[in-house]
Amino acid sequence: MIDTHAHLQTFSKKDQTAVIARAREAGVRKIVNAACSLLDMGDCLALADTYDFIWTTAGIHPTELTDNIERDLERVSEYAKNEKRVKAIGEIGLDYYHDRAPRDLQHAFLVGQLNIADQRGLPAILHCRGSKAPGENEIAFMDLIRILEKTGFKNAVAHCFSGNAIEAEKLLDLGLMLSFTGILTYPENDALRDIVKATPLDRIMLETDSPYLPPHAHRGQRNEPAFVVDVANAIAEIKGVPLHEVELITTRNAERFFGI
Ligand SMILES: [Zn+2]
Repeated sequence: MIDTHAHLQTFSKKDQTAVIARAREAGVRKIVNAACSLLDMGDCLALADTYDFIWTTAGIHPTELTDNIERDLERVSEYAKNEKRVKAIGEIGLDYYHDRAPRDLQHAFLVGQLNIADQRGLPAILHCRGSKAPGENEIAFMDLIRILEKTGFKNAVAHCFSGNAIEAEKLLDLGLMLSFTGILTYPENDALRDIVKATPLDRIMLETDSPYLPPHAHRGQRNEPAFVVDVANAIAEIKGVPLHEVELITTRNAERFFGI
């Protein structure tokens, strides 16, 4: 299995060692550790330099934006030159839940970072979250889809997919991958399980988004890459296929998508 989205930089050095060892024991062969800010990128790169089965990304999360877009994009572009260890631009996108930056600025950063991905021939990891008010998640996804259509950028994954069935279909039509976290195992998420059922296995990747979003069996605990097996199990159950098939195909998908 591959955990295509973790944030190991949020763990202490001591915890990192233990968490990585447990992931290996659980059968996690590779990890893509996603950076979220300029500060993050140095830590993430150090980790990716230490372990040959961990890679990282370059990118600024929509909650970490500054007014100095030119300087920040330049830094992302510099980090992205590390072809050996940086395998995607991410995580980038829209966050209308926290709305920490004006939406215009969020759009500009997203377009700018998609341009960098395009220039470097890297895939993008997209975050998309609306505010909790009814209809607001749809607004975030509408904006994301509009930006993808306008830029023509297709080599992307909708990370921790949490939209509705129509948005999933639209993103798949555009050529994106969808990746799913432990929220798939929450009893209340039947609609998300229906989306997994309708999504071909060769368009799905596994992720934990650890330390956030622990699977149901680990709710209340800190999430970690070893728990990606819960996501694989959930997908196998939803699709009625053997676990090894989910592991094999999602691993192949991630290896192809990230070039790892
Ligand atoms: Zn994340």
